[in-house]
Amino acid sequence: MSTVLVLVEHTDGELARTSRETLTLARNLTEPVEGHLEVAAVGTWSDELRKEAAAFGVTAVHTLEHELLDADAPPAAVAEAVRQLMGVVTPSVVLGAASERGTPSFAHLAARTDLPLAANCTAVETVDDGWELTRLRWGGVLYEDAHLDAEVALLTVAPHQIAAVPATMPGPAELEPFTPELDEALTVARPVAREALSGGISLATAPVVLAGGRGMGSAEAFAVLEELASLLGGAVGCSRVATNAGWRSHNDQVGQTGTRVAPDLYLACGISGATQHWVGCMNAKRIVAVNTDAEAPMVTRAHEAVLGDLHEFLPALLEEVRSRKGG
Ligand SMILES: Cc1cc2nc3c(=O)[nH]c(=O)nc-3n(C[C@H](O)[C@H](O)[C@H](O)COP(=O)(O)OP(=O)(O)OC[C@H]3O[C@@H](n4cnc5c(N)ncnc54)[C@H](O)[C@@H]3O)c2cc1C
Repeated sequence: MSTVLVLVEHTDGELARTSRETLTLARNLTEPVEGHLEVAAVGTWSDELRKEAAAFGVTAVHTLEHELLDADAPPAAVAEAVRQLMGVVTPSVVLGAASERGTPSFAHLAARTDLPLAANCTAVETVDDGWELTRLRWGGVLYEDAHLDAEVALLTVAPHQIAAVPATMPGPAELEPFTPELDEALTVARPVAREALSGGISLATAPVVLAGGRGMGSAEAFAVLEELASLLGGAVGCSRVATNAGWRSHNDQVGQTGTRVAPDLYLACGISGATQHWVGCMNAKRIVAVNTDAEAPMVTRAHEAVLGDLHEFLPALLEEVRSRKGG
């Protein structure tokens, strides 16, 4: 019976959305052969997490237990722990999200195991002589169909390309702690400080993203988006032009060289919709463009568009939201 191992991430007692997406894709590999779907996880594992993993069909949970494996565990240490676990679990496939943590961990894992890594997969199927994959390439502007022939497949899964769906049959999600042997040399690169986000909502996971581009005209003009974000429980994003102009920090940039977002609502204000920006927001459930140019790609691709000057529209929108919120 084959085993598929998934490295999952969790925060505040919840599986990361990207991990739920990865588990959904991983089930395609186990269900036809009734294989095991096992997960490896760093950090404190709660009963709530166990229930969530069970709902996604997980058969076993290997908590990676070592003093170096805390919430800021360095990718090299995570990779080495997974490598050692692979010796026990003997998986045919190891998957993880192509997230900020998953991507470097899998790069280290590929180097340590000398196995090929296929990054940013959106679909995977087992065939007689390996795996057929579809993956996102060139910063997300094209899908590539590929064949992977490997002793064990290492795959990362592109964020927000697959809808996370619980399993029809829950798994037992039995807890099987695993203590790897790790040494300090694995900690040469690790986070040393964390900065709280304004409003505490991360751009990558915010349900509402209010983004501004060149059309905003100044750093000060973003104040209206900040206030809307705090009223709507969202985050402020921007285009690269806004970053380059020094109006916003690079952390706020959406796109190929910024953050990829998949909110329920993406409001693109004064953003033309260049391909490099579009790939960062195209997975939003609803995109509304505010632009003076009816021909701008963001306007023609958006679900809805407001054709007009954002400096007139945004204050009116803010007024309306304030009054509905009773402010
Ligand atoms: C390798 C590479 C990577 C890149 N990565 C990224 C990336 O990650 N993210 C990113 O965003 N870009 C990225 N870019 C840059 C990208 O190609 C575009 O240049 C950029 O996205 C354009 O930003 P913009 O839409 O704000 O500006 P513009 O393209 O100049 O568009 C401004 C828009 O504002 C509208 N407008 C102007 N005034 C108003 C007003 N008063 N009211 C309403 N609308 C108005 C205009 O009609 C226009 O559509 C990258 C480029 C390269 C080469």
